[in-house]
Amino acid sequence: MQWFKQWRRQRILKRSTLDEAVWRFVLDRYPFTRVLEREERERLRDWVVLFLHEKSIEGAGGLVLRDEMRACIAAQACMLILNLDIDYYRGWVEVIVYPDEFVAEYEYVDEDGGAHRVEEPMAGESWLEGPVILSWADAELRGGETGYNVVIHEFAHKLDMLNGDANGFPPLHAGMDRAAWSRAFSAAYQDYCGRVERGEASEIDPYAAESPAEFFAVLSEAFFETPRAVLGEYRDVYHQLVSFYRQDPAARHARQPGEAEGPRGSY
Ligand SMILES: [Zn+2]
Repeated sequence: MQWFKQWRRQRILKRSTLDEAVWRFVLDRYPFTRVLEREERERLRDWVVLFLHEKSIEGAGGLVLRDEMRACIAAQACMLILNLDIDYYRGWVEVIVYPDEFVAEYEYVDEDGGAHRVEEPMAGESWLEGPVILSWADAELRGGETGYNVVIHEFAHKLDMLNGDANGFPPLHAGMDRAAWSRAFSAAYQDYCGRVERGEASEIDPYAAESPAEFFAVLSEAFFETPRAVLGEYRDVYHQLVSFYRQDPAARHARQPGEAEGPRGSY
C-alpha cells in the first residue's frame, strides 16, 4: 500500500493552504529552522502540512489558537522527524495547548500502601498513545542558548513511546547498535547525575537527571537547540542522536556561523 500512501500524501500537499507569510514567520523564528538548507526547508514544510492535516491542535483553558501558532508547534515537532517520516507520530491525533503552565493531577501509592494525589504545574506532557499537552507560553519560546524547548521535549517522548512506556530507548533503525546506544546513554546518564549532585555547571538542563526517559528528552532538546553543548559534554550520545534523528545539527550550525544562537535576550 506504499503507492497509495504516497499518492494520498501528494494530494494533501497539493491542496495545502499553508500561508506563505505564516511559513516564513515560522522559519525565521527558531535558531534551528533558520540554519536549514533550502531542500531541508521544503521537506520540513511538507511534514508540517501533513502534520497539520493529520493532527488536531486545539486550544484549552480559554486559549484561541491562530494558524501561525499551530504552524509554530508543527514545525518544532517536525524538526525531529525531518529525516524520518510523519509515521513516527502514528497512533494518536491530539495536541492540546493551554495558555500557560497547566496543573497535572495524578495519583500514586507509596511504599507503605498510602495513596497520594499530586497536583503539579507542567509546561508539557505526553501520554502513551494519547495526546501531547503543551503550555503555549513555553511552546512559543525561541530557545537559543538555553537549550530549552518544550515541544521538542514532548515529541522526543512520543518517539520514545513508539515501543512502549518512555524509558530513553526509542526503536532504533536497522544498522544501529542497541548495545552502543545503551553504553553511551547509561554512561552519560550516570555521569550527569553525579555532576548534578555535586552541583557542577553544565549547559544541559538538570531536569535530565530525573530519569533515563527525561535524559533522552532533554538531550534531544539540547541536540537541536545547542548541539555543540551535547557534542562537548557527551560526544557518544551526540553521535547516537545523529544516527537516530539522521541529522547533524552541530555541522549545520557550523556551516552558518553566527546563526546558531539566535537573537540574544529574546526572552
Ligand atoms: Zn519529560
